[in-house]
Amino acid sequence: MARSTAHRISRPAPGTSAGGPRRARQAPTSSALPWLAPQLAPARQTGTARTPATLDDRALVELPKAHLHLHLVGSMRPSTLAEWCRRDGRPFPDLDLDAGGWPRFNAIYEAASASVRREDDLRRLVDELVEDQARDGARWVEITADPSNYHGRIGSAAHVLAILLDAGRAASARHGVAVGWVICANRSRRPDQALELAALAAANASDEVVGFGLANDERAAPTAEFSRAFGIAREAGLAAVPHAGELCGASNVAEAVHLLGATRVGHGVRALEDEAVLSLLVERQVTLEVCPTSNLALGVYEADWAAAGPEGAHPVERLRAAGVKVCLNADDPLLFGASLLDEYRFAQDALGWGPTGLASSAAASIDGASCPERQRRRLRAELACWAAAHGASLDGAPGF
Ligand SMILES: [Zn+2]
Repeated sequence: MARSTAHRISRPAPGTSAGGPRRARQAPTSSALPWLAPQLAPARQTGTARTPATLDDRALVELPKAHLHLHLVGSMRPSTLAEWCRRDGRPFPDLDLDAGGWPRFNAIYEAASASVRREDDLRRLVDELVEDQARDGARWVEITADPSNYHGRIGSAAHVLAILLDAGRAASARHGVAVGWVICANRSRRPDQALELAALAAANASDEVVGFGLANDERAAPTAEFSRAFGIAREAGLAAVPHAGELCGASNVAEAVHLLGATRVGHGVRALEDEAVLSLLVERQVTLEVCPTSNLALGVYEADWAAAGPEGAHPVERLRAAGVKVCLNADDPLLFGASLLDEYRFAQDALGWGPTGLASSAAASIDGASCPERQRRRLRAELACWAAAHGASLDGAPGF
């Protein structure tokens, strides 16, 4: 799985600093995001020159952007999880990922998923997720969800999807963030379940159900086993947006493109291990949904860059420099403690991205979004205004 698991991770206590609105306008600190502490020291000077004027949170929130890689359950607020655990007499899961790696991550995720017991829980989960995106300045969010996870508690996958769509509409109207859904198959389950989900997604393809994904442990099953499911989804006009190149290497990214028809890849960062795969991503204009904090927390890359050296550091800047379209995403804020806004702060404070680099990520997110074209045009126009106001150049940015 991970190339390094050397760094240690401590999670904040529930309801204190991880996720939720109270962290919205606070800079990440070593106590809030301990695995980012090494990078939040003096910023590295990378391919994007740092400008003297560091953008404040208001400017980062106002940056028009889309959030393309965000899991429904992984976005649960810790305070909500604690409340539901109390309600149901369940123990609050220890959110400490320290030394647990992927199996620990999966166990916490399953515990959070099991806490969603009722239709009202689903509706609240969606509403709070969208409210948190509004707080961070996302204008379009694609929520990744597996509606088959609630069978026996809330209902069939089709019933759950109908609830999610309705909740998404209500939350969108309430918080002013447009919502799309990515129906996501599970690589650790049988491929015929992926076929059923693909058929459900295809039957609901619309401006709301916009994509089909594949998540969980990349090592669990060969990519080819999911080709038919992705074929059904693509045939219905859905975007193919599987995870790849996180726990496995560059060849999995190539397979996602060749076998699943991926136009975006969740993570994909390990494409950097093979120049031919990098060239493939550039040639096919594939967008990578990069989630730096997730990668550091799971040990995909070394948290201590000084110890890791250039080859061990998180590669988002190197991917961008190679011409790959990359946008920043949060993945699972519940587990990693970082919101979308935190990821943009990270890029500025740890990677040294100035307004041009940050605007480039926003442009890639808008370019790669499965939103209606009228919204894409509007967001691009708003991004151009933001760039002019903050001295950012959009020359060569995706879609410009
Ligand atoms: Zn993910």
